Amino acid sequence: MQLDPVPAGVVPDLTDATARYLGDTPPKAELREDIQALGKRMDELQTALFAESKHALLVVLQARDGGGKDSTIRRVFGALNPQGCVISGFKAPTPLELRHDYLWRIHHAVPPKGLVGVFNRSQYEDVLVVRVHSLVPEEVWRARYEQINSFERHLIENGVTIRKFFLHISRDEQRDRLRDRLDDPAKYWKFNPGDLGERDRWDDYTRAYQEMMARTSRPEAPWYVVPADKKLPRDVLISQVVVEALEGMKPAFPGPPPGLEDFRTQLA
Ligand code: AMP
Ligand code: MG
Repeated sequence: MQLDPVPAGVVPDLTDATARYLGDTPPKAELREDIQALGKRMDELQTALFAESKHALLVVLQARDGGGKDSTIRRVFGALNPQGCVISGFKAPTPLELRHDYLWRIHHAVPPKGLVGVFNRSQYEDVLVVRVHSLVPEEVWRARYEQINSFERHLIENGVTIRKFFLHISRDEQRDRLRDRLDDPAKYWKFNPGDLGERDRWDDYTRAYQEMMARTSRPEAPWYVVPADKKLPRDVLISQVVVEALEGMKPAFPGPPPGLEDFRTQLA
């Protein structure tokens, strides 16, 4: 199993069929072992990233309601040392946030060197919900693709590696997950009647996600469409990309402190 990034300029297929991994999927037991191994590797690499403290990894998660962002954070990033990871969620902007440019709150949440940052929603809401609900005129949200690309370029040039995931679920799977929130008392709190209105705009969102990825997936800050109807393959696919990204950053533990032998003697 393996995910390929969305090539720059290419509109990804977001039909229901691609909400499941189309290649061969190993048996569940094997997927669980893979997740364990990948989680362990992710944690080791993050420790080195912290020791070195020269670079940060930013992971962006976007999805429709019920798309699995929260469970991905728990199941994939739960493998990291909690001190090594910073999760930032972005809700509808507050009055203060609205008085600033839309990237103000985002920049503030970018992980510092040494950490893995996960965005639960992101700057991309400003070309998604904002577009679908016409919260600003088209020329305003349209200009944001290039603004976001420049912003990300700036981050990359300043030591931040970026990977972006769209957790892609089918219409049926979303219905089941939203229904679940009405059937399980422990999940009532997750139900938001507003999600039904968003579901009615399914095709508008599809177009918004497609154009977003076509315009902002680049080799240095790629988008991945993650088949997310099934959680285990989803977790493995995301973990693989994250581990590969961390490996590419080549985090190295710093060398010995000057005077190592002296210190050793003092502690003999
Ligand atoms: P949730 O992630 O389910 O807690 O919901 C957060 C809500 O905030 C979603 O409905 C998002 O679409 C909304 N949201 C996030 N960012 C923005 C934004 N920039 N403008 C408007 N709504 C937003
Ligand atoms: Mg919600």
